[in-house]
Amino acid sequence: MTQDFPNSMARRKFLALTGAGATALLAGALIHIEGCSESTTGSAAQPGDLTGTVDDNHAAPHRAIIKKAQLDAGGGITLDIQGSASHSHTVALTAVQIGDIKAGTAVAVQSSTTNSHSHLVHFN
Ligand SMILES: [Zn+2]
Repeated sequence: MTQDFPNSMARRKFLALTGAGATALLAGALIHIEGCSESTTGSAAQPGDLTGTVDDNHAAPHRAIIKKAQLDAGGGITLDIQGSASHSHTVALTAVQIGDIKAGTAVAVQSSTTNSHSHLVHFN
């Protein structure tokens, strides 16, 4: 699945926080907070999702989450790792890499460059 609008998630989050959706968003974040000590200001990981480690992360951190459905689909994906940061990077993962990640193999991928920097993202 290709993401035609890499910033659409951030745009939806903004719209949700400015409208009546803010309460629902917070309620959803609280439901899924168990077992997850990360800030929930970004899109929170759901059960079955796989969260990667972002090197040289910012104080307002990027978050690299591969959805369970994306792992199950097994195809190549482009991950938006904006998380709580003020800017976004994307991480391109091939179908082979998704398969490796699903199998528990360590995979490290360099993100796209934004604001003159990029991040190495590790899975497993
Ligand atoms: Zn960054």
